[in-house]
Amino acid sequence: MNIDGPSSVPVPSGLTHPAQSSGNIVQTATTPITVCLIEDPRLLAVADDLPAIRGRASRVSSLLRSYGITSQLQVIPAPLASVEDLNAFHSWDYLEVLQKLEADDELPDEVLDDYGLLHDCPILPKILTVCRVLGGGSIKAAQCLANGSGQVSVNWHGGWHHAQRDHAAGFCYVNDAVLAILELKKTFSHVLYLDLDIHHGDGVENAFAFTPNVFVASIHLWESGFYPGSGTAEDQGLGRGQGFSLNVPLKRGTTDERFTRTCQRLVDRILEKFQPDAIVCQLGCDGLNGDPLGGFNLTQEAYVNCVAILKRLEKPLLLLGGGGYIWTKAAITWTSVMASIMSVHLPLDIPEDDLYFLEYGPSYDRLITKSNIKDENSDLKSKSGNYGQNLIS
Ligand SMILES: [Zn+2]
Repeated sequence: MNIDGPSSVPVPSGLTHPAQSSGNIVQTATTPITVCLIEDPRLLAVADDLPAIRGRASRVSSLLRSYGITSQLQVIPAPLASVEDLNAFHSWDYLEVLQKLEADDELPDEVLDDYGLLHDCPILPKILTVCRVLGGGSIKAAQCLANGSGQVSVNWHGGWHHAQRDHAAGFCYVNDAVLAILELKKTFSHVLYLDLDIHHGDGVENAFAFTPNVFVASIHLWESGFYPGSGTAEDQGLGRGQGFSLNVPLKRGTTDERFTRTCQRLVDRILEKFQPDAIVCQLGCDGLNGDPLGGFNLTQEAYVNCVAILKRLEKPLLLLGGGGYIWTKAAITWTSVMASIMSVHLPLDIPEDDLYFLEYGPSYDRLITKSNIKDENSDLKSKSGNYGQNLIS
């Protein structure tokens, strides 16, 4: 099984040069691209402390380092975003609440509930600073594309796509994806946002629903009761933005092949009416087989393939993290994606000097396997309606 390169889509073209070897990785024969990785100890500490992904950031960072990938790119620290920076999207009311909580003010439950801070987004210590760090990381990632520092820019600790203008939602306190797109818009006139998380990217879609210059697309699981409940195929934008959102709701058991094919068709459809100057991809990997919050049957190959499809468009590309609730699988997936975009071949075995090596047992390799669960999309072939049927055959 080829887990580094796309299996069903062509390999991106590029000038060739002799293969090079560097530590754990082997540079394959394509022109290297410039990549910026947003990471620093403060960003890792903040991401590691988020209740939904406690400890994940360290695993991701460690695997990138132990495979030697980090040494092949520019590592750039995440500056602290200002409250005004956050206000580019978030309402002053919401930011004021975060400010009061940071100052240890006690607020009644009704207020916390209004701002989404009671249930799946509990109050965090230094909650406003957390938002400034996460937002600052993705704004910086966007700036790296705008100022030409990198052709690809990556913040695996961003991708908080459910946060709304005036409230937290679905583990997301700040919508760094929206902030990054707004930052890109200062330089690039048309931005494509593609959301591959298993949950619909509702916060980003709502932010740009009325905008024809930001195309928002999402492939996700849709079924009754599955969070957040939005993102049907009929949901295509509003007002002047009508036709500039596209959703592909899929069923449980979606495979790599179907996901990749869907992504290619979705991108082809978008390009018929929209020519992006820059692309943002939310690569939440909770669609991996076995994810406790998921339901798809994917391996890392699906995400590698989809990023290859985007890379072939040869536009500045911003990659964000997102869901992914088995830490080692998220680390493997995002490391494999980075290896693919940098055209390097990684050994299958997890490096023994990785700080979390023992967590990769019993196989201690990068293989993520699919299971035998049924692909429920195959039942839809004879039906029409709201499942993006023309995209998922
Ligand atoms: Zn998710």
